[in-house]
Amino acid sequence: MIEKRIDELIKIINKASFEYYTNDNPSITDQEYDDYMDELIRLETNYPHLVRDDSPTLKIGGQVIDDFKKVNHQIPMMSLGDIFNYDELDDFDNKIRKVVARPTYVCELKIDGLSVSLLYENGKLIRGATRGDGTVGEDITHNVRTIKNVPKSLPQDIDIEVRGEIYMPKSSFEKLNEERRKNKEKEFANPRNAAAGSVRRLDSKIARERNLSTFIYHLPNPDSFNLNSHYESLEFMKKLNFNVNKEIKKCISLQEVKEYIDYWTIHRSDLAYEIDGIVIKVDNYRDQRKLGYTARVPKWAIAYKFPAEQVLTKLRDIEFCVGRTGKITPRAILSPVRVAGSVVSYATLHNEDYIKSKDIKIGDTVSIRKAGDIIPEVVEVIKERRTKDEQDFHMIDACPICGTKLVKKLNEAAYFCPNEKCDARNIEGLIHFASRDAMNIEGFGESVVDDFYNSNYLKTIPDFYTLKNYKEELMNKEGFGLKSINKLLEAIENSKKNSLDKLIFGLGIRHVGNKTATILANEFQTLDNLKHASFEDLSSITDIGDKIAKSIIEYFKNEKITDKLKELGLNMKYVKPIQNISSDFQDKTFVLTGTLQTMGRKEAQDLITSLGGKNTNSVSKNTGVVIVGEQPGSKYEKALKLGITIWTEEEFLKHARR
Ligand code: NAD
Repeated sequence: MIEKRIDELIKIINKASFEYYTNDNPSITDQEYDDYMDELIRLETNYPHLVRDDSPTLKIGGQVIDDFKKVNHQIPMMSLGDIFNYDELDDFDNKIRKVVARPTYVCELKIDGLSVSLLYENGKLIRGATRGDGTVGEDITHNVRTIKNVPKSLPQDIDIEVRGEIYMPKSSFEKLNEERRKNKEKEFANPRNAAAGSVRRLDSKIARERNLSTFIYHLPNPDSFNLNSHYESLEFMKKLNFNVNKEIKKCISLQEVKEYIDYWTIHRSDLAYEIDGIVIKVDNYRDQRKLGYTARVPKWAIAYKFPAEQVLTKLRDIEFCVGRTGKITPRAILSPVRVAGSVVSYATLHNEDYIKSKDIKIGDTVSIRKAGDIIPEVVEVIKERRTKDEQDFHMIDACPICGTKLVKKLNEAAYFCPNEKCDARNIEGLIHFASRDAMNIEGFGESVVDDFYNSNYLKTIPDFYTLKNYKEELMNKEGFGLKSINKLLEAIENSKKNSLDKLIFGLGIRHVGNKTATILANEFQTLDNLKHASFEDLSSITDIGDKIAKSIIEYFKNEKITDKLKELGLNMKYVKPIQNISSDFQDKTFVLTGTLQTMGRKEAQDLITSLGGKNTNSVSKNTGVVIVGEQPGSKYEKALKLGITIWTEEEFLKHARR
């Protein structure tokens, strides 16, 4: 089984490598390739006796094309190990520190191009070569000579080899693809493939036309020049007129390395060229020698790869979830895939119309992204990947839980299960009642509610408040004990004091969200007043439209729940939050991006509201302040572009405490 998977992975990787390195025309995304490679490395680590001699994990790059003269690299041109998150970076640093007590790192941008070796004799450029398979590369001297910032002669008559990256600037890449689109030619997948496709040509006219460039970042033989560290070598090569990237930074702590990565994760789009990560190298050559090499990569360097924002994966099936209002939401079951930092297995498909408009079939390869960086969604179907084995999607006509025939309301895309006794609806309703924005009864997540519901302790909302009568029985349930039941019961008791807005939201009245619940509570002050409000009373309130008003009237027509809750001792009045308006916040709109360290997103938004500010999700010229946590998204870049005030978490707290 394992052996078979290893064979399978090697086949996939070899095919992809050939298309990428030899044809400069990738058939899968880099993320997919990295995931296959990752899986292979994991299997080989766990089953070392199954490592094949021809494994791609032991090889560098691709095959060299016969059309070119071959070049032997005296010192092999290696690849780089890669990592994808800070845990892996910590591991890398720990391994280094086992050998080198206090390493100095050099951080560099990982230029998305192809590596090149430039050889000079007596200060004259005599050869340019690709990396090839690391020991044998292709002679591309004729094309390298066309690149403007490759010096043809050096200020000193020395013999030297330098290495770096040939790349295509973003502007040239876009122009080239635009031309190719016009000429109905296949576009290049990325600037790396475009650069490689331009340089690995026999006719140098093409390379000349395509405005290629270089960054030089490696000196394979520093001893000949009495250089002691990588950083010194970079300075030395700069003096020889090589184009050395100006963003290179020496870092004496891992924290500084992380700050460099954080900075470029945000600012990479400001660069005139593509980068696909950050390279971290141990600076001192003595330390590098102590650390050594594997067959493929140096142990003293690593490439931190940026997370892909959009990735491809297989849509394995479509299932249907029943919400608390009975709304049926189709959801894609995906082959698990890493996107923007976490593994994703499901994506929302919203409704039938959405699936049809995107022509999604079961078995399709789809591109997914995290909407607003949280909920994954399908962006598009990759139709070229269809195999004809895909199956058409059919909307169900009965509730997957209770079997009741679904209904579709006029002008709505969604289907609903109309059965008010549908178990799925009831369970979702109970989870919603206990959720944080509603009654905030901690501990009643999906599994506990499911369990209590199926064992008949919790069927309707008022049952929360009679659970204490079954304490003994609940304590003896599997997975529970005195302590956990006490905690649940205490949370339930505490929720009785909640303000009316939380209760209104918790009831789960259709179209009444969090904000509307607060508006209603503020307007009517008591639940009785709200229950007796007429359609006109309701619809005359700003922000309460006819749809909401109708839904509220409909809800209170026949319900008995709230009377029971009153009997059980729940507060039915609006408790206005203590207003602590701050001029730093009042009437300003705030946008949060990235992860805050001291509080959750919801907490931060509540704090902003309590200080008189408003929260929105997108940045525009009307945004007052953008609060930036760790690993912020594109909102931060947009704020910079629009010149919006930016606060770090620390600044936010400082303003809030004033
Ligand atoms: P790599 O691109 O992950 O990293 C090594 C290379 O980074 C070096 O050889 C060098 O050329 C380059 N580099 C850029 N800036 C650098 C700097 N400042 N310092 C040092 N090196 C720098 O490794 P690779 O072996 O060239 O390629 C493997 C990667 O290529 C895969 O991880 C994958 O992303 C991609 N790939 C994709 C496919 C596909 O089908 N999509 C197939 C094969 C490879």
